[in-house]
Amino acid sequence: MNYKNTIVFAQGMDLRDPLKDYRSQFHFPQKSGKDVLYFCGNSLGLMPKTTAAAVNKELNVWEKEGVLGQHSRWEAYHEHLTDSTARLVGANPSEVVVMNALTVNLHLLLVSFYQPTPQRNKIVIEQGAFPSDQYAVESQIRFHGFNPKEALIELIPREGEKYLRTDDILNTLKENSNSIATILIGGVNYYSGQAFDMEKITKVGHEIGAYVGFDLAHGAGNLLLNLHDWNVDFAAWCSYKYICAGPGSPGGVFIHERHGNWEGPRFAGWWGHDKGTRFNMGPDFVPIIGAEGWQISNSPVLSMACLRESMSIFDEAGMKEIRTKSELLTGYLEYLVKTISDNVEIITPFVPSERGNQLSLVMKENGKVVFNELGEKGIVCDWREPDVIRIAPSPLYNSYADIYFFFEILKSLVV
Ligand SMILES: *Cc1c(COP(=O)(O)O)cnc(C)c1O
Repeated sequence: MNYKNTIVFAQGMDLRDPLKDYRSQFHFPQKSGKDVLYFCGNSLGLMPKTTAAAVNKELNVWEKEGVLGQHSRWEAYHEHLTDSTARLVGANPSEVVVMNALTVNLHLLLVSFYQPTPQRNKIVIEQGAFPSDQYAVESQIRFHGFNPKEALIELIPREGEKYLRTDDILNTLKENSNSIATILIGGVNYYSGQAFDMEKITKVGHEIGAYVGFDLAHGAGNLLLNLHDWNVDFAAWCSYKYICAGPGSPGGVFIHERHGNWEGPRFAGWWGHDKGTRFNMGPDFVPIIGAEGWQISNSPVLSMACLRESMSIFDEAGMKEIRTKSELLTGYLEYLVKTISDNVEIITPFVPSERGNQLSLVMKENGKVVFNELGEKGIVCDWREPDVIRIAPSPLYNSYADIYFFFEILKSLVV
């Protein structure tokens, strides 16, 4: 793409944008009576305009029907999300389920897919993973009586480099081929914005006899995913970032169908029990075959109603179109930011296949001051210590003109 450093170019791109009408389907926070420029969908996605009515509908059923609503409507409520969730991550319907929150799901998946032995007990994670993942993994290692100092392998970029090289990741796996039990990497790192080659990592992970899983908090709704074909063992993600389902909304889980008939360890609850006999309330746990067998509790219907609204937008727009625009938008942001100053350094990879829609900017001078000024001028983005501003333009509700305006304001603030 031959980008140009002008508002006319940006507006021309907007006119031709096949997703341009989706912007009007979202509520924008206001600042001084105007829509903010919102680049924080990697933290909390904007609210679709249909969401409030969808939640109210369920509240009305509760109001009018009480427990009858449970039987008529909510018992299988999560199933409304199955097909769209499968499309979102490239899975078969039996391989996905929506339940709980992300870190809870990581724990539940590790109960099954981290089965350490004295010989093979290591977990591989990227250094600088989201802290919750780090805590979860270390506590799992301790829970099994091992020491994270020995059993946790953290992938570290080479000296002087900002992100990981795929070959270095694969070599680390091969070098520890007898001792790695489980690989759990963020599909996209929340800090650097680097997207990993999940297919290659899975392939080599399996060659060395490990289970391979991904935290897709920053991958689902952002990248084109093919979890089934890539043979990934398990994955989990949240729905409030890219997927726009609102604060604390339930997460998604993928478990490859070859594990559907699971006989290994798992924490059970009644919602994972065979649906035909669940309400016989019998003493023996008979799991549903597939990812649903990992469910524990009944569904949080109100927040799932939010999720249904946003998933219908993803379904209609389609991940292919979303990803195509994402690459163009992020590319435009990269193009413009590179013209500003040496005091702003992009630490996210430049190759589109190695990133999602986020660029992480290292601010070498007065970063926090610049960040606060951006906020004053109606730009919502976020700050990550010690010196990074993350900008995540959403293909669903950001325009090329948004990127251009952001660039002009950033340029005016940076020396
Ligand atoms: C956002 C995020 C979380 C948050 O976990 P919750 O359990 O949903 O609070 C965890 N891990 C990663 C990688 C994240 O980006």
